[in-house]
Amino acid sequence: MQLSNFHQQLFDNYSRYYESRVKYRRFKHQDLVVLLDKFKKNNILSNSITGKSYQKRDIYLLKAGTGKTKILLWSQMHGDEATATMALLDIFNFLTANDELNTFREKILSETTVYFVPMLNPDGAEPFERRTAQCIDMNRDALQLQTPEAKLLKQLQHDLKPDFGFNLHDQNTHYTAGATRNPATITFLAPPIDAQNTINDVRKRAIQLIVQLNQHIQTFIPNQVGRWSDEYEPRAFGENMQKWGTSTILVESGGYPNDPEKQFIRKLNFIVLLDAFYQIATQSYQNEKLEPYTAIPPNEKRLFDLLIKNVKVKDSVVDIGIIHNETTVGSSFYYSGQIYDWGDLSVFYGYEELNGQKLQVKEGKLYPQKLSVIDDVARLPIAELLQQGYLAVQVDQITPEQRTTHTLPIHIISAKEDFNSKIGEGKEANFFLTENGKIRYAVVNGFLHKVEP
Ligand SMILES: [Zn+2]
Repeated sequence: MQLSNFHQQLFDNYSRYYESRVKYRRFKHQDLVVLLDKFKKNNILSNSITGKSYQKRDIYLLKAGTGKTKILLWSQMHGDEATATMALLDIFNFLTANDELNTFREKILSETTVYFVPMLNPDGAEPFERRTAQCIDMNRDALQLQTPEAKLLKQLQHDLKPDFGFNLHDQNTHYTAGATRNPATITFLAPPIDAQNTINDVRKRAIQLIVQLNQHIQTFIPNQVGRWSDEYEPRAFGENMQKWGTSTILVESGGYPNDPEKQFIRKLNFIVLLDAFYQIATQSYQNEKLEPYTAIPPNEKRLFDLLIKNVKVKDSVVDIGIIHNETTVGSSFYYSGQIYDWGDLSVFYGYEELNGQKLQVKEGKLYPQKLSVIDDVARLPIAELLQQGYLAVQVDQITPEQRTTHTLPIHIISAKEDFNSKIGEGKEANFFLTENGKIRYAVVNGFLHKVEP
């Protein structure tokens, strides 16, 4: 077995370790507790409760390996950033497996001791919100320590004195790797220790390791790796961990086409982190230069979910940039499509793009008859309605969730709501696109549908 291509082995064999009981980002603390239970009596991975959240949920610390180099990882300090937590579950399965990747596994477990805190903000994960139950952004609480969760993280750093730290987050899916159309699917940062961007030995190790991780993960996502801003944020954990002597790496999970639940990005996290343990175990990063780190393109925000270019609106020709905002409902969510910007958007890109050169924007109408349940809508001849210029229907009994999780190509609102197809910045994205007076496309709640003649 080639010992240099661990990342490729991880990629090829991932399905073996994939924790299939969690497939959606909005899993809860209770789901995690159940999954961690199987490691209670494991001889490779020990599992203990290390503290409690503000609302008294248990926060777990898992430990693997017996080596001298210590690594600490914490995920989901922002409650709505769950991708890395899912990857950690896969990593636990990897570390406790016994197969032909044992060479790598044993190297990691003999040279390093890895500590994991999955879901540091379980109270925020419950409603799938960024902040803690005290409404505090934990990543601005590294100095004041007003939250029990931040206190716990600082205490762990103090007690364990990890050599390396991994601060695991999700970022906006509209970030790109530089001024390109490539989403920043993974973004790295070696957080700065001061406003002068000084590189001491601690930060240097983090940078060198990023150089390797970037090189390896680019195999699977070429040109889709970004570098987070190195503007100094004195209140954040990344900066302070680095200052407290732990070589810290921020890993942000961004967007990837057609991966709304981030299952491919989860796989990338699995590879990045295990690859990091292995490179730390073999100390192979030590000869890396610093320049390839600064050559990683900085994050920019250049992507919309849908970008319609060069479309005629009354007397002007504009581009329309639409984003899909997520609203959480229980363990599910719905999208609201919003016109985020319009005008000359020639420096931007879309996950989906439409050249609107021959097209004209036209407002849609509300279907005059009110319906009682959503199933009634499905029985309507929707294609004909669209051709006639109807873009929305009112339904008497409809939950917020039904309103946008249905897949019907028509906007559904409650009987109490008015329909407004006026377009403009910040407005809901509901309108038609016509060609020579005939309706060709419907934009329904920010999603593009072809209207067949
Ligand atoms: Zn975050």
